[in-house]
Amino acid sequence: MKLFISVDMEGIGGVINYEHTCEKGMEHEHARRLMTGEVNAAIETALEMGATEVVVSDSHYAIPNQNIIIEELNPAAYLINGTPRPLSQLQGVDESFDAAFLMGYHAREGTRYAIMPHSYHGKVVRELNVNGVVVGETGINTYVLGDYGVPVILVSGDAEAVKEAEQLVPNVETAVVKWPIGAYSAKSLHPTKAREIIREAVKMAITKKDQIKPVKLKGPVTVEVKLKSTGMADVAELIPTVERIDGVTVRFVSDNMVRAYRTFQAVVLISSEDLQKDEVFQRQ
Ligand code: ZN
Repeated sequence: MKLFISVDMEGIGGVINYEHTCEKGMEHEHARRLMTGEVNAAIETALEMGATEVVVSDSHYAIPNQNIIIEELNPAAYLINGTPRPLSQLQGVDESFDAAFLMGYHAREGTRYAIMPHSYHGKVVRELNVNGVVVGETGINTYVLGDYGVPVILVSGDAEAVKEAEQLVPNVETAVVKWPIGAYSAKSLHPTKAREIIREAVKMAITKKDQIKPVKLKGPVTVEVKLKSTGMADVAELIPTVERIDGVTVRFVSDNMVRAYRTFQAVVLISSEDLQKDEVFQRQ
């Protein structure tokens, strides 16, 4: 069994604010160890359950995308890190994989009582809508994996991230490692306990793997991205396949989800051009 693991940081137990998630944060080194520890718990159990190859994609933006501490990672796993990469948080996956885990995941932008909720880029994306459904990173990544025929069998993170997964993937196994109080506060499990919960969830997920199907969107994929400023939409609409539909919203249609994901990344990247100007002119 080939297993793909995409791991973010905001949904790791004990991680609560930017001191953990930003590379200059006082707690970032600590958060890197917590992240590596949760992934290791999953890898060890997956190997015991018959995984023959494990690829881990470091999917958190800091450093950039170099948060997992490689010498502490289980030696059986491959690590994909750094940026840019065409498949972003899913770089490394293809049709040959049997299952995927999304670990350390967080809720989408605007979710009440969730740890640092955002959809791909917290300063750029107000709302991401795929074929009429508002999704966050759990959703868009589940659809892209679906294009490759890979089911998401386990999602770990805060209680709100896990809810998003349950709404999208029937029978998905989940591991809640913390319960948010506000955007920057939570009740977390001790790391030892969080890893135990993850081990149990991995056992369950692999045992019932055949009951969990890939979530593949049929036909053309329509994506609408509501941005955080009109300046962002001004530049996003310069991309030839992207159309402006109102002051802050752009739309594009792709034949499949993988292409849509690439265009979405381009929209976010080009829109982030506007960030510095935004900070200069809108600080009051
Ligand atoms: Zn992240």
